[in-house]
Amino acid sequence: MVARVIPVDPFDLVIFGGTGDLAKRKILPGLYRRFLAGQMPPEARIIAAARSEMDDAGYRALAGASLAEFVSKSKQDEKAIGEFLERLHYVTIDATGEGGWKALKGLMRKGVVRAFYFSVAPSLFGDLAERLHSHGIADGESRIVVEKPFGRDLASARALNAVLAEHFNEEQIYRIDHYLGKETVQNLMAVRFANVLFEPLWNAQYVDHVQITVAETVGVGGRGAYYDKSGAMRDMIQNHLMQLLCLIAMEPPYHFEPNAVRDEKLKVIRALEPVPAEDIVRGQYRAKPANGGAAEPSYAEDVDNPQSRTESYIALKARVANWRWQGTPFYLRTGKKLRARTSEIAIVFKEAPHSIFGEEESWRANILAIRLQPNEGMNLSVMIKEPGPGGMRLTDVPLDMSFADALGEDGMDIPDAYERLIMDVIRGNQTLFMRGDEVEAAWAWTDPIIEGWESRGDRPKGYDPGSSGPEDALMLLHRDGRRWREIRG
Ligand code: NAP
Repeated sequence: MVARVIPVDPFDLVIFGGTGDLAKRKILPGLYRRFLAGQMPPEARIIAAARSEMDDAGYRALAGASLAEFVSKSKQDEKAIGEFLERLHYVTIDATGEGGWKALKGLMRKGVVRAFYFSVAPSLFGDLAERLHSHGIADGESRIVVEKPFGRDLASARALNAVLAEHFNEEQIYRIDHYLGKETVQNLMAVRFANVLFEPLWNAQYVDHVQITVAETVGVGGRGAYYDKSGAMRDMIQNHLMQLLCLIAMEPPYHFEPNAVRDEKLKVIRALEPVPAEDIVRGQYRAKPANGGAAEPSYAEDVDNPQSRTESYIALKARVANWRWQGTPFYLRTGKKLRARTSEIAIVFKEAPHSIFGEEESWRANILAIRLQPNEGMNLSVMIKEPGPGGMRLTDVPLDMSFADALGEDGMDIPDAYERLIMDVIRGNQTLFMRGDEVEAAWAWTDPIIEGWESRGDRPKGYDPGSSGPEDALMLLHRDGRRWREIRG
């Protein structure tokens, strides 16, 4: 099946931080892939801005090198890359100074969509917003895209919202959470709200519990200085896992329209109960001894802070206090240096109320597993009779639907989250972006949890690299008579 491509309106997209890691790894490759797919009209233009001194030719060389590194070989078309690079321009601008803004204004055209991607540290958001206005570059129709982290607590998120609100209204602000741009995540809404099959079962009467896992195999890498001030709760749970939880738990919106969807997500966040200390397990990865291979440093060594109490792993039990979910816990876990790289949501349905197949036939739950990576897709495990003459023995088999197999012409034609989200910005569709009140509500739930372990002086438990996390995390489910799904790549 070939994806339908509808070209967007002509645009000028300005990428502040156009020389940075995110621009090189995600934004430019994403834009190129949309260009290759025919979604970019001939008048579309991309203007990068940063402090480095460079001209258009210099920037095109930088962008060309990024595409060579970060676009899959099968999509590297020399002619197309040349044409794409022609659309790139560069302006030297320091967000905190006045130089370069006039040149940027001179490049902007009238009558096209104006979008400004703030791919810089959040401390510069205010400077950029202010200067885009004082230099008459942004107007009431312009859009701005802002990256995570959106604050580190409720107070800082409020401050960021206030800074942006001085110059832009909410309809102009696109807060990116790239998890929402993933094909499977959007499919989750399609599966829930376009089929009659699941919705009647989507509640505490039939769903025993939900597990949301985002596991990484890498450590903190070069992000140590940032990560040690953040930790898994701020870096992953408050935003990505929270958004996934919302999409599972929310009521059907009256229409697939940005504010209708976001209103329903907000209600879920507001319905989250405080999490008691006994429902949280934090972990920190240990060093890996050489054992014949290469030794790896511990988390504390990685972040160069022997006293660090920051968690590289967290598991917690969340409860949504409303009619639909009363009694159905949502277990969330995420961590670094775990056994495999995987992101998965598992809806674990309840046991059949009565087994007609006898006591010895141990019953296993139906599970709807939604994989975000690797191999985006959904998998519903159902019970069937074990084949053969051995009597009525049961076994579970997957009804598997891998999107790549079912939808991709060459099995790989699923757009990356960033390219989809950037095109949504140009189209003016905010459905997959977080609204300011959503972000604040998420911090309002997160803050007391963090304050709790900080005031108690809790230390994270150690866990071995390549494991499933600390032992205590197993107990979080065991004591409820449940168990985690295996972390598998
Ligand atoms: P980065 O590699 O450090 O790049 C920062 C960019 O900002 C560079 O282009 C830098 O260029 C520019 N810059 C710095 N100070 C500036 C100033 N005063 N005025 C104008 N430009 C300035 O950071 P990044 O990894 O690309 O991240 C950018 C944003 O995305 C951050 O908010 C980050 O948290 C977020 N983010 C990144 C990732 C990722 O995978 N990298 C993922 C999620 C979110 P010059 O030095 O030339 O000015």
